[in-house]
Amino acid sequence: MSADEPDVLVVGAGVAGIAAARTLHARGLSCLVLEAKDRIGGRAYTDATGFDHGASWLHQANDNPLTGFAEALGFETVDHDKLRQRLLFTEGRFATTDERGAFAAAEDRFWRVIEAAAADGAPDRPASDAAPQGGRFDALVAHWEGAQICAAELSRMSLHDFAATALDGPNLLLRRGLGTLVSTLAEGLPIQLNAPVAQLDWGGSGVEASGAFGRIRARAAIITVSTGVLAQASIAFAPGLPAQTLDAIKALPLGLLTKLSFPVPPGTLPEFGPFASLRRDIAGPSDRPISWIARPFGAPVMLAFIGGSLAWELSRAGKHAAEAHARAEFAHVFGAEAAKALGVPIITDLGEDPQFLGSYSHAIPGAQAARRALAEPLADGRLIFAGETCHPRFAATVAGAWLSGEDAAHLILS
Ligand SMILES: Cc1cc2nc3c(=O)[nH]c(=O)nc-3n(C[C@H](O)[C@H](O)[C@H](O)COP(=O)(O)OP(=O)(O)OC[C@H]3O[C@@H](n4cnc5c(N)ncnc54)[C@H](O)[C@@H]3O)c2cc1C
Repeated sequence: MSADEPDVLVVGAGVAGIAAARTLHARGLSCLVLEAKDRIGGRAYTDATGFDHGASWLHQANDNPLTGFAEALGFETVDHDKLRQRLLFTEGRFATTDERGAFAAAEDRFWRVIEAAAADGAPDRPASDAAPQGGRFDALVAHWEGAQICAAELSRMSLHDFAATALDGPNLLLRRGLGTLVSTLAEGLPIQLNAPVAQLDWGGSGVEASGAFGRIRARAAIITVSTGVLAQASIAFAPGLPAQTLDAIKALPLGLLTKLSFPVPPGTLPEFGPFASLRRDIAGPSDRPISWIARPFGAPVMLAFIGGSLAWELSRAGKHAAEAHARAEFAHVFGAEAAKALGVPIITDLGEDPQFLGSYSHAIPGAQAARRALAEPLADGRLIFAGETCHPRFAATVAGAWLSGEDAAHLILS
């Protein structure tokens, strides 16, 4: 190895790549992060308007490794659960207090039943097989916990993985944006932007990444790109990856959550408090409602969230399809006149973005062991996969991505 070669190559400057690079750096190993895009942060990115394109909540904040950084760096946070007014639109009107109580009770029952089913010793099965059915709000709870939160329907998810990766509060939001925190944590790290890795050779004594940037050798590589990117084989691995790794990639697809931020002139929004959240009840067997958050941090915007199969269908139909759908939903609840106040939205749709090809991962039924299988180091630790997908507890989140990046670095350091 020549003197200017880094010890470790990290592919991807998202949360996992940044955590890996910080850990290596702190322990005196040199590394170089190669990032395909012209920016860092990956799926955790705040734009100049303050909009979080990907992640925005620090879920289960008391166990979340990023909470301590937010506090230490003086980032102002709010506990969303303490602030949010919860609105439910059902049968053409807003739900009564009793109906909202019944919905909350259905959510509690859902989790009791899911946890019991996951612990019953039976083989893995789709999470939908275990979910309660027949109660007034059961279909809405299943839609909410599946498509709208996990970005995939419960029928597509492993019951055991779904239960093992379930999240609790507190759910913190950062006024300056979660992506801003992530980019702050990357300051000073050796990151090369606009450097998509096209091929990764790992057959010799070290590794070699190549692409339009040239060829760079190192002792080991940590690969943090999404399973959407890996499944597409956008990076050619030489030799090819073992069957167990390929199977794990296939078993951990990404769901899709499309986010739209509609500006709304002050005074034209319905009278909601900041962070009010709105869900619409399911009107029939094929109905897939979207959800809304009003006026985050008091800003004159309405955020729309479209998850799961509906998000994929709209993504494939083009960005305007998601916007048109959200406008129609808004008009359905608040009336056509109110919907005219919605301005031109900022849209995050990673379904067709070649560097992600989806939002975050879930395990398919029967694949509850796939996350650990993907994280298993190859070639005596010369090649290690990391990222949200690889974390068996906090998968799909920035917490999982961060911890997985740290774990990968520790494997190299050990
Ligand atoms: C809409 C949305 C909402 C979300 N909400 C939340 C939330 O509220 N809370 C939460 O905790 N999580 C949330 N998430 C999930 C969270 O954003 C991700 O789990 C996390 O950011 C993933 O980080 P990562 O490092 O594993 O992967 P990534 O962020 O995907 O990082 C991988 C990096 O690799 C780069 N790359 C790809 N191909 C190549 C290549 N060939 N060569 C070099 N680089 C390459 C990519 O550009 C990217 O920067 C959300 C995600 C989305 C999309």
